[in-house]
Amino acid sequence: MKNHEGQCLCGHIRFRVEGRPTFPHLCSCRTCQRWSGAPTVAWVEFPIDRLVWTGEGGEPALYQSSQKTRRGFCPKCGGTVCAIDEGYDKISLTIASFDDASPLVPGKQHSYGKQAPPWWSVTIRRD
Ligand SMILES: [Zn+2]
Ligand SMILES: [Zn+2]
Repeated sequence: MKNHEGQCLCGHIRFRVEGRPTFPHLCSCRTCQRWSGAPTVAWVEFPIDRLVWTGEGGEPALYQSSQKTRRGFCPKCGGTVCAIDEGYDKISLTIASFDDASPLVPGKQHSYGKQAPPWWSVTIRRD
């Protein structure tokens, strides 16, 4: 199975993950927006037990963004890398943090699409 690797902005937090990526999707909820500073975040899920934190920073810092969810970021650069839901066997990783994000194409699901700003439209190219 192919490895996927990625990192935060500065590289202090790096990860390598194996297994099948699932549920690549977009989310424009207010929590994702405020967490990332962007109108929309692209996410993909992997089995949490197939992920290794390989950077010198080890695991990312975690912010409890809701009762069930912690969001991981780099304590040095603030780069946003993951979300972990309590009791869930997958980890959500930000597609944009992968070294090669090209095979990770969001599906039709755009969670909270109505919360995206009206000037922002997303077209997903599939070729
Ligand atoms: Zn960083
Ligand atoms: Zn969201």
